[in-house]
Amino acid sequence: MSHVFPRNSKAPPPMVARGQGPYLYDTTGKSYLNCGDAAVSCLGHGDPHVTGAITAQLDQVAFAHTGFFTSDPAERLAERLVAAAPEGLDRVYVVSGGSEAMESALKLARQYVIESGQPTRTRVIARRQSYHGNTLGALATGGNAARRAPFDPLLMEVSHVSPCYAYRGQAEGEPDAVYVDRLIAELEAEIDALGPETVLAFVAEPVVGATLGAVPPVADYFARVREVCDRHGILLIFDEVMCGMGRTGTMFAAEHYGAVPDICAIAKGLGAGYQPIGAMMCSARIHDTIRDGSGFFQHGHTYLGHPVACAAALAVLERLLDDRVLDRVTPVGEALHDALADRFGQHAHVGDIRGVGLFRAIELVRDRGTKAPFDPADKVHARLKAAAFEAGLICYPMGGTVDGTQGDHVLLAPPFILEDAQVGELVDKLDRAMQAVFA
Ligand code: PLP
Repeated sequence: MSHVFPRNSKAPPPMVARGQGPYLYDTTGKSYLNCGDAAVSCLGHGDPHVTGAITAQLDQVAFAHTGFFTSDPAERLAERLVAAAPEGLDRVYVVSGGSEAMESALKLARQYVIESGQPTRTRVIARRQSYHGNTLGALATGGNAARRAPFDPLLMEVSHVSPCYAYRGQAEGEPDAVYVDRLIAELEAEIDALGPETVLAFVAEPVVGATLGAVPPVADYFARVREVCDRHGILLIFDEVMCGMGRTGTMFAAEHYGAVPDICAIAKGLGAGYQPIGAMMCSARIHDTIRDGSGFFQHGHTYLGHPVACAAALAVLERLLDDRVLDRVTPVGEALHDALADRFGQHAHVGDIRGVGLFRAIELVRDRGTKAPFDPADKVHARLKAAAFEAGLICYPMGGTVDGTQGDHVLLAPPFILEDAQVGELVDKLDRAMQAVFA
């Protein structure tokens, strides 16, 4: 009997034996094309440059507490990340994952307003149908009803406005500019209702991942959001935990959308699964306010700036930037989009095929004409996940796309090393799974 506490006690998973390139293998020898481990595995498995960097660092020093030391890999990683980031993100706070990065972002925002003489700012505005992590602050910030529900009484109060979700939010024939005007008016109305002097931060995923399925913004939505935040002195926090680190074709998703955040959370692809690591990046203004004030960020975890995790992340960046693996994301992503459109564009239950770079999704509907979702009791997303796994494909289907309860989509986040033939394999396996579910 296993003593592991599994995610799903009703369906314990098979045992993984090894990974190579884009494939994982279980102990029976079955292979799985890994396109859905929540957008972590950007380099595939067994990358010798990354594993070599990890073992070399272990031979030097595995751990040194940041209360006493900085380390060479932490310094070099921070330097590389700042050089790769949009102008303005200047400091890097290395943690162990995405939720920790978001938690750090929220607490840094609060400490910054205190130290800059704006203590009335306590309220966070985020968007419905977002996910920002599972620790209590990050969960409260996220706008996914189902994930929040059991813990609601424990969560801080956060305002949630509409996401920029063209497939369902934009009226038929409505120009992008008019749709964006409506979203900005809704945000401004919420700021007014709360009182601008009470608003701390606006939080958003530039491209929404798990809870909406690879939804990029429309037109100049984020440039307009940035302008609203600046006008009211509100901090803009981007959660690039899933969409960052090259997933959309640029190192930071923000680069596409004309807005630089004050604070940005990254994780997942940062360590590419070789080490658990995340980071919070912030502007010099925020860092310097605290440096020149209390001098101490009232936060921290034991494994901040872990040298082995930093060495792994640095090696990942070297692969992405020096070996130009990043350059594959846009062309392979477009090939994947075309292959999905060819195969599923006319499918009776495919409502939308969307995304950017190697961050793609299909929204599944009962009726294409009306966009009516399936009955949540049908568990379409769960059945698709199981059928795809059976077919040897790891993808990331989720339910609740429409409102947290209704709706289904499947997110595809393959490694950047995916070959042309493997694009075909992905689509073939997904097709087999779709046929099994919709037979
Ligand atoms: N933010 C986003 C956008 C995510 O997709 C996730 C995880 O899926 C998180 C935060 C939380 O990251 P972690 O699971 O590493 O804590």
